[in-house]
Amino acid sequence: MDKTTLAHNIERVKETIATACHKSGRRPGDVQLIAVTKYASEETTRAVLDLGLEHIGESRAQEAVPKYEALGERGTWHFIGHLQRNKVKYVLGRFTYIHSLDRYSLAKEINKRAEREDLEVNCFIQVNVAGEARKFGLAPSEVMEFAKEVAELPYVRIAGLMTMAPLVEDAEEVRPVFRELRSLRDRLSELELPRADKLELSMGMSNDYEVAVEEGATMVRLGSALVGRNT
Ligand SMILES: *Cc1c(COP(=O)(O)O)cnc(C)c1O
Repeated sequence: MDKTTLAHNIERVKETIATACHKSGRRPGDVQLIAVTKYASEETTRAVLDLGLEHIGESRAQEAVPKYEALGERGTWHFIGHLQRNKVKYVLGRFTYIHSLDRYSLAKEINKRAEREDLEVNCFIQVNVAGEARKFGLAPSEVMEFAKEVAELPYVRIAGLMTMAPLVEDAEEVRPVFRELRSLRDRLSELELPRADKLELSMGMSNDYEVAVEEGATMVRLGSALVGRNT
């Protein structure tokens, strides 16, 4: 994607975030924009960094490694895809955040490898708020117990909660999804678990980030709105 178009997209997204913040009495600085570059070439990813976005999201471990080797130092990397246990080794030490912690066996694997490397790993618990059969993530009713178990693992920090809302025509339809994730986050905060302070809300994608920001998102993950598809 050419840099002019990309710069234009970034401006437009920032304006939309600012407007949504304004509408809901929030500060734009409280919303972190993550540029999802899973559709983008290394060149486009470099352009994203050149244009001042520092948070990069990737969803496939092995494909992200060469990009990371070329550009890793320049940004903060977020792993947002489904993570298999045998791929944890590619992710640790490169990605500062994992947004897709969805089962205890994965948490244990992250903890084990992080201990070896003496790292604390920031993990978002992924929640399947809408209960979609084809999506990963815990049911809302499972989140508190799961978080308590994860809090026993000393190398895993609970960074917050993440969800992917169903793809709908009108983003207003998924407002209750974001609202429920926020309410879960508030309940989780009340537990005051160790290594689970200042819980973030990773929610909002190209289709629905405006509504997600109005409902309290602190991190939005945007791919196609920024870099289009397959660039
Ligand atoms: C691909 C992806 C995104 C970005 O999707 P867009 O609709 O292109 O903004 C965000 N989050 C996750 C988990 C993804 O896999």
